[in-house]
Amino acid sequence: MAKNKIVYEPKKLTFKEKRMIVKAQKNLFSDKEPEMWEHYCEEEKTEMAVGKGEPCNWCGKKEEDCESCS
Ligand SMILES: [Zn+2]
Repeated sequence: MAKNKIVYEPKKLTFKEKRMIVKAQKNLFSDKEPEMWEHYCEEEKTEMAVGKGEPCNWCGKKEEDCESCS
């Protein structure tokens, strides 16, 4: 007597779920807007936005140095 085989089929995604995944991936990868971090620059005496991961051109501060500023 053959045992009943239990087959776990992978859950099939509905059309709506696929659309949601594509949309989420687009948001993650096609965002060309460069990320910025802001701080009050002591050198320029104003709020400065600096590219993510880059130190400030004026005062040399990095985002990590200035977490309380943002
Ligand atoms: Zn600065």
